[in-house]
Amino acid sequence: MIYFDNASSTKPLKEVIDIFCVENEKNYANPSSINSFGMENNAKISRIKADILKIFNLNNDYEVIITSGATESNNIAILGYARKNKNKGNHLITSKIEHESVLNCFKQLETEGFEVTYLDVDKEGHIKYDELEKAIKKETILVALMSSNNEVGSTLDLKKSQEIIAKFPKCAFYSDVAQAVCKVNLNYSLLDFFGFSFHKIHGLKGIGLLVKKKKINLDKVVYGGNQENGLRSGTINYPSFVSSFIALKTNMIDINKNFKYVKGLNEFLRKELGNTDEIEINTSKIDNPYILSISLKTKSSSVVVEALSNKGIYVNSVSACNSKNDEPSHVLLAMGKDKFVARNVIRISFSHFNTIEECKKIKEELILILESIRG
Ligand code: PMP
Repeated sequence: MIYFDNASSTKPLKEVIDIFCVENEKNYANPSSINSFGMENNAKISRIKADILKIFNLNNDYEVIITSGATESNNIAILGYARKNKNKGNHLITSKIEHESVLNCFKQLETEGFEVTYLDVDKEGHIKYDELEKAIKKETILVALMSSNNEVGSTLDLKKSQEIIAKFPKCAFYSDVAQAVCKVNLNYSLLDFFGFSFHKIHGLKGIGLLVKKKKINLDKVVYGGNQENGLRSGTINYPSFVSSFIALKTNMIDINKNFKYVKGLNEFLRKELGNTDEIEINTSKIDNPYILSISLKTKSSSVVVEALSNKGIYVNSVSACNSKNDEPSHVLLAMGKDKFVARNVIRISFSHFNTIEECKKIKEELILILESIRG
């Protein structure tokens, strides 16, 4: 089997699974219990949270909230911040290419009376910074822009964005870093808060983080027993958190080495596939080498994705969340692609466990499939 759908989810590291099993078997106490069994787990969570801040090069102005993943982090952050700070202003900014878990929060906030500006992107999938500069105003309380896009890998210039936002002290800066964390180097201290899922970085599903400045105040979105400073009620997923932390730690240590290696794979495939009449490469710039988005000029991508699956090669069309509906990708439409190209996307997403032989194999099989459809 050849797995090129790592932007949807990754294979957990063996060490992560081993620790998960041990923690479930031995340390099953609820970390919020006040007996010593539970308190030990709680102490371990605190130690790991302190390590996480160090990994992100953040000081004690920040805190870590354990969530069930990026979707929940995005909801808690965006809904919570806008509602809590409504008295300071009514205007919010995001981009047209955000993940649904961000876009749908903003759509909800519009129904609650907020004014939202959705920034355009250029043909490479980068926001137009002059548009951000024009859109931001004294009523703007939040700018939420993803660090790396999940369909094409276009990556935000955090510094440039933060410099614009910082001129408006009432305005907070949030980023969905789900596709960037452990993949591209980010200066996290430029952000007021950010969220991600561990399963994109060889950790487990159903566990993620919201990292925020302590002074960022949020309204509650989840009601219950007030775990995680009242922001994410519900029993903490201790075994998933403790084990998935290893994936964050390991991949952050190897980030530059892995980036270089994966960039080599991406460059190889884009060169090979770029020579094919049938294929259009969707971005010419490699900001985040973990994603290569191509489109078919005349064929249906779902047919090709299925044919590759039948040969044990797994890719996706737009993104896992959207691949089941036949709508054109909102990201590619925002990048100015026509509807056919925006619908017939194949997303090849890498991990550092992929090999050049696998890249050669997918290229060969893809060409054969396209020829057979032609015939
Ligand atoms: N944001 C981005 C950029 C993503 O790629 C994803 C996963 N497709 C999410 C948020 C949501 O992650 P999860 O499904 O783990 O909550």
